[in-house]
Amino acid sequence: MTAVTAPALVVAIDGPAGTGKSTVAGRLAERIGGRTLDTGAMYRAATLAVLEADVDPAGPRAADVVEAADIRVTADDTGHSVVLLDGRDVSVEIRGDGVTAAVSAVSADPAVREKLVDLQRTHAGSELLVVEGRDIGTVVFPDAVLKVFLTASPEARAERRHRQNLASGRESVLAEVLDSVTRRDHLDSTRAVSPLRAADDAVVVDTSDLSLDQVLDRLTELVTERIGAIQ
Ligand code: C5P
Repeated sequence: MTAVTAPALVVAIDGPAGTGKSTVAGRLAERIGGRTLDTGAMYRAATLAVLEADVDPAGPRAADVVEAADIRVTADDTGHSVVLLDGRDVSVEIRGDGVTAAVSAVSADPAVREKLVDLQRTHAGSELLVVEGRDIGTVVFPDAVLKVFLTASPEARAERRHRQNLASGRESVLAEVLDSVTRRDHLDSTRAVSPLRAADDAVVVDTSDLSLDQVLDRLTELVTERIGAIQ
């Protein structure tokens, strides 16, 4: 694994599914003038590669498939992530139920994490980067200028995901979404390598009863303060 090169200009946004990480990361980058990186999209693309190769997501061969895959994640002008798997745009496909059900198994494999963490670190540079995921503040960018851990009740998170699904034309049943969200959180928080948890120095923000603007105001204030302090 490559050494961590003091990525001072990184804002780490971690938290479980449905806390609003993607929306918050995109809007925050817009406000403060930076780019975004959606690391969940990388684990999803890796999972799609495993499923397409017809390999068991929880088995030992999954890491070989991921090792051979060319995964690239960028963001378009509107901050939406664009994901390429071996040169093919899979941005929509990686949001399907099959990938969502298998992604926690693939991402629990240490060899998969090692490859993707290295890839994530190559994105840091001289421009401010807002990175969202599960282990950004704890593992990927432990020197991030600001670490935020977003939380919300499982019900609020499932409701959000359900509305997002319907808005993007996908079929959705609230009880099933709640089930999938809690199952994934459990797997992500209990895995041996880089489990989902707040870094000791993260600012924890419960978004259950906050509007998007309230969350953004708080984070903008914190980023401005921290960046001012290191410049
Ligand atoms: O953020 P999103 O819900 O798209 O992430 C999909 C899955 O990818 C998570 O449930 C988790 O298993 C995995 N993931 C991870 N580490 C990250 C980002 C995502 O293990 N930094």
